[in-house]
Amino acid sequence: MRQSMTLIPTLRELPSDAEIKSHQLLLRAGFIKQIASGVYSYLPLAKKALDNIEQIVREEMEKAGAAELLLPALQPAELWQDSGRWYTYGDELMRMHDRHDRSFALGPTHEEVITSIVSDGVPSYKRLPITLYQIQTKFRDEKRPRFGLLRGREFIMKDAYSFHTSEESLDDVYLKMYQAYTNIFTRCGLDFRAVLADSGAIGGKDTQEFMVLSEIGEDTIAYSDSSSYAANIEMAEVNCDYEKSAELEKELTKVDTPGQKTIAEVSDFLDVQASNIIKSLVMIVDEEPVMVLVRGDHELNDIKVKNALDADSVEFADEDHTKELLNCSFGSIGPVNLPSSLKIIADKAVESMMNAVCGANDDDCHYVNVVPGRDFQVETYADIRFIQEGDPSPDGKGTIRFARGIEVGHIFKLGTTYSEAMSAKYLDENGKSHPYIMGCYGIGVSRTLAAVAEQFNDENGLIWPTNIAPYDIHLIPVNMKDAAQEELAERLYNELKGHRFNVLLDDRNERPGVKFKDSDLIGMPVRVTVGKKAAEGIVEVKIRKTGEMQEVKVEQLLDVLT
Ligand code: ATP
Ligand code: MG
Ligand code: MG
Ligand code: MG
Repeated sequence: MRQSMTLIPTLRELPSDAEIKSHQLLLRAGFIKQIASGVYSYLPLAKKALDNIEQIVREEMEKAGAAELLLPALQPAELWQDSGRWYTYGDELMRMHDRHDRSFALGPTHEEVITSIVSDGVPSYKRLPITLYQIQTKFRDEKRPRFGLLRGREFIMKDAYSFHTSEESLDDVYLKMYQAYTNIFTRCGLDFRAVLADSGAIGGKDTQEFMVLSEIGEDTIAYSDSSSYAANIEMAEVNCDYEKSAELEKELTKVDTPGQKTIAEVSDFLDVQASNIIKSLVMIVDEEPVMVLVRGDHELNDIKVKNALDADSVEFADEDHTKELLNCSFGSIGPVNLPSSLKIIADKAVESMMNAVCGANDDDCHYVNVVPGRDFQVETYADIRFIQEGDPSPDGKGTIRFARGIEVGHIFKLGTTYSEAMSAKYLDENGKSHPYIMGCYGIGVSRTLAAVAEQFNDENGLIWPTNIAPYDIHLIPVNMKDAAQEELAERLYNELKGHRFNVLLDDRNERPGVKFKDSDLIGMPVRVTVGKKAAEGIVEVKIRKTGEMQEVKVEQLLDVLT
């Protein structure tokens, strides 16, 4: 591609609202352009890099036996009502109406659509198992879109779904997907780790997340320094069984005044585990406002605990943070760091939280006469603690360390949650019907692009790994007005393309300084500069990653590059 014919709008200044490296560099290097909060255009270079990631994904999916299809983004509300998620998904689901006032959603994920398709098209056990995948734009009205492509409201996801007649068959495909994901992220050049994740209230069993290790990751990984144990901190909390937590749970469940609800019953009602509630309560008790762990996926929790912390229970210097805390939903958003300016008044906060959890009298939620302090002891909450660095690993081997990660992939054994809710069934060899056993497997394709950019850069710009790079070679004639240079550059451009290199030719009439700066910024793996020695048939080859430069005779160029 000739640079004069494509669009690479590089910027010299640091974009003001971009906080992290990948976001800054993708903007500055002319890869992406924001069009609304969390919504981006992928300009030509980004499109090329995305295509490369998608190609890797497709190859590994096909290897794992998954067939590609493409599902609609626009989905009728009825489908989501069937699964129940219309009512539980919350504000992240983008909802809309058509001209006949029918309700629709823009797909944040596609369990409903795929389940309805498979249940219509694969009614017999003979056609199972089957795994289907797509690469498609997803919509989620994220509360806090940020970090560029890392958390968008419109983003590209690869999502795969598998359907089975037995747990063994699901185990088998889950393993294949695990392997495929490992291959994909390895081929992308990423430093990543697969970690155990919390299946929350979706009802599934095994689930693992693929985390790219990065300081700016929004997830915390707890891993053992001397075994293979690695888990999302939410899951590590579940795995570790601290005595104090166990004691506390007893404490909370022991009171059973006739006619009144105990915390256990309340949590039964909420369809979550008592420990989930407890852990959420802990968030407000530590003397130091260090961390809030918001747990549990159940939407009822959301309804109940939203605004549980009222303004009376917190003192703040920073209004934005406080508002965010007050609106903190019970979704599994993981640990949230509180600013040190925020002081939490424990007693009042516990009380308001308790009132929200136990004293609810909203529509569809009636449990009464539960009085904090009488039906359970509020004071003991302060004894609970979170898993910390230095704790023994839950698997009994070694010591826990923390790292930050970016969730780029997630594999999940769903079981029959969706097929049961949607009455999606197959017939077995005796003509008896059963709900499909399902798995789902997601990769954030656009997020992966940003994760690569986050891991591979230096002070001069991006450094693309060869498998992802938009072009293999950046070919730069220093002076387009010099006939020898122009001629040699044109010749090399054609020859290299003939040898299946993807070449970007900087045929612009720009000053050398501009060309080199841009070249470092956009970060193709190899730069070939055609300069003063063009007449002698000598060019300069520079490796972007190492900065290593060498002069090469044109006849030897191909050898050097391969
Ligand atoms: P997160 O915890 O970051 O919100 P998630 O657990 O909600 O992600 P999944 O439902 O597991 O996401 O979706 C599968 C994959 O889609 C994720 O592993 C992630 O890579 C990607 N993804 C999810 N939300 C976004 C987003 N807002 N922007 C870009 N990629 C996303
Ligand atoms: Mg999410
Ligand atoms: Mg997640
Ligand atoms: Mg996930």
